[in-house]
Amino acid sequence: MSKLYFSYAAMNAGKSTVLLQASWNYQERGMRTLLFTSALYAKHEDGRITSRIGINADATLYSETDNLQARITREHKKKKVDCVFVDEAQFLTKDQVWQLARISDRLGIPVLCYGLRTDFRGELFPGSAELLAIADSLREIRTICHCGRKATMVVRRTAEGKTLTTGNQVGIEKSMYLSLCRAHWEEETGRWPKAKPKAKPRAAKKKPAKKTHLHLAAANTARPPRRVKR
Ligand SMILES: [Zn+2]
Repeated sequence: MSKLYFSYAAMNAGKSTVLLQASWNYQERGMRTLLFTSALYAKHEDGRITSRIGINADATLYSETDNLQARITREHKKKKVDCVFVDEAQFLTKDQVWQLARISDRLGIPVLCYGLRTDFRGELFPGSAELLAIADSLREIRTICHCGRKATMVVRRTAEGKTLTTGNQVGIEKSMYLSLCRAHWEEETGRWPKAKPKAKPRAAKKKPAKKTHLHLAAANTARPPRRVKR
């Protein structure tokens, strides 16, 4: 039986890389895959899934008004589809998640969705909420906070480095987002007092109070996020 899969992660965990690799594995065996990505973040009008490590593939753009079930069914009638991949799956509507579930249940085609679990406010995206509710298989793609713990949360920053705690769920560019562990996310968003740096006698003369973002930036420079091997 074909399944509906949801692979979720924080930002910059390599979701697109995993998707493109999986699609390649099908194609290498002479199988046909359909790739979709959200029109919301699209940099190419004709649709493309790009990964930070440099690989990419053409994809069909979807927006919230598209009937994915109808589109995939139409393609499948033209020529057999072996697997469907959906990137930026957090932007799917609840209905679209069900449409994809029917593709797996009724047409017997596996559907693999990849997306963010939560937004910068720590709240589920609609597509992710529905996928977490009804997908057959849930997988986490891991990435690491600057402290070395698993990063499960995302903060959104302005160009000046100010952390935002309110605003639209869908916004601006990927470079404005940073993945953190839950503890550091709570500190960064001001929900919990920021841990004070360990007291050093010489550092006492400087002004530690104003160091919030600099402190984090310094930590990032000293120890870049490690990429998890797969
Ligand atoms: Zn952390």
